[in-house]
Amino acid sequence: MSIRTLIRGGLVITAADELHADVLIEDGRVAALAAHGSAAAEAWTADRTIDASGKYVIPGGVDAHTHMELPFGGTSASDTFETGTRAAAWGGTTTIVDFAVQSVGHSLREGLDTWYAKADGNCAVDYAFHMILSDVNEGTLKEMDLLVGEGVTSFKLFMAYPGVFYSDDGQILRAMQRGASNGGLIMMHAENGIAIDVLVEQALARGETDPRHHGEVRKVLLEAEATHRAIQLARVAGAPLYVVHVSAEEAVAELAAARDKGLPVFGETCPQYLFLSTDNLAEPDFQGAKYVCSTPLRPREHQAALWRGLRTNDLQVVSTDHCPFCFRGQKELGRGDFSKIPNGLPGVENRMDLLHQAVLDGHISRRRWIEIACATPARMFGLYPQKGTIAPGSDADIVLYDPHAEQVISAETHHMNVDYSAYEGKRITGRVDTVLSRGELVIEQREFTGRAGHGAFIPRSTCQYL
Ligand SMILES: [Zn+2]
Repeated sequence: MSIRTLIRGGLVITAADELHADVLIEDGRVAALAAHGSAAAEAWTADRTIDASGKYVIPGGVDAHTHMELPFGGTSASDTFETGTRAAAWGGTTTIVDFAVQSVGHSLREGLDTWYAKADGNCAVDYAFHMILSDVNEGTLKEMDLLVGEGVTSFKLFMAYPGVFYSDDGQILRAMQRGASNGGLIMMHAENGIAIDVLVEQALARGETDPRHHGEVRKVLLEAEATHRAIQLARVAGAPLYVVHVSAEEAVAELAAARDKGLPVFGETCPQYLFLSTDNLAEPDFQGAKYVCSTPLRPREHQAALWRGLRTNDLQVVSTDHCPFCFRGQKELGRGDFSKIPNGLPGVENRMDLLHQAVLDGHISRRRWIEIACATPARMFGLYPQKGTIAPGSDADIVLYDPHAEQVISAETHHMNVDYSAYEGKRITGRVDTVLSRGELVIEQREFTGRAGHGAFIPRSTCQYL
């Protein structure tokens, strides 16, 4: 039985347009849009009509960088696929692209199957996977082709974390060459981890153990250097490149210079780099540990360059790098040694709201909000137009957003499974009201009506910017 749903009277905002239109949904997909009040729209009948007057009708968010239940630093990210995707829905995100992990000495297949099993039957919204390559060798290079064939079309490499995820330049070059031939997009964590580890050791030897030293040893120059090196390796391989969690002005400059040459180089930043800074890392009583992530938070001055990059399209995507660890019992593992603080921040629930606030603050336009949070991540990772827009044939992943509601972000009221908020006390204008995932209501007027297991694995095509 197919249910016809009609969303009436809202302002439909996509990356391309803003129009007062009614949206007809059938079989979980957008069937048609028509001008509000037009004869066509008035003639539509539906089993269910949702009144969107006074609200924005926007595509569900696509968060292309999450780490649900990721094992890291002797513990695991505190959100499971169940709790993390539920929180995503609350925050207006209806698709996540999470990272399956290959462990050193194991196949990609084994890693991917482990992640399929973690997510299967547990997700409230749809999900897809990137693959983290920890061990580039003949076998795993061949496996990349197979993964592209089953819809896992992007591969993350690390220039950081020697001994864990680290790949050397030769391995990176090989993976990029493989990606250039099979269509897989290489995603890069661009920090010079070999040099950083020396600085970590020296800092600890000097007795500099507080969280703020995490930010000091992971230097801007070592992000910029790695970004530059990754770009040159990609040029040599003839491959496109996507740099994750760009945080430093100097790294943005490397991306901008490459793009000015016409190279297929892309950059992502995250809300924490746009809204937080080293001031947070320096909070007393070990509170700074809440803000330990890599790349690290930077001095406030870098934020202007990130906003500018988002406006000029030198940066194209805002993802969260959602990787929550509770302050108690998890972040505390690094008391007395900042290098043992699990790296990561919660944020999957906050991204759409923070970026809406950025619209009100004058950093970006409304359509750019949808572009960087929905449409571009969908295109970048081969999900468009199934995800990331509202158009006939698209999945009916739709958010009714109240642009006038006031809220205060707090761990008391958020839905992520973590005991603190990185944005505690921040006032936001705008709030998610209702969320549909493939035509099913998962949030209805601020009530969770979804269920674990509704969310499906979405195989992806290759990057749509190439
Ligand atoms: Zn990450």
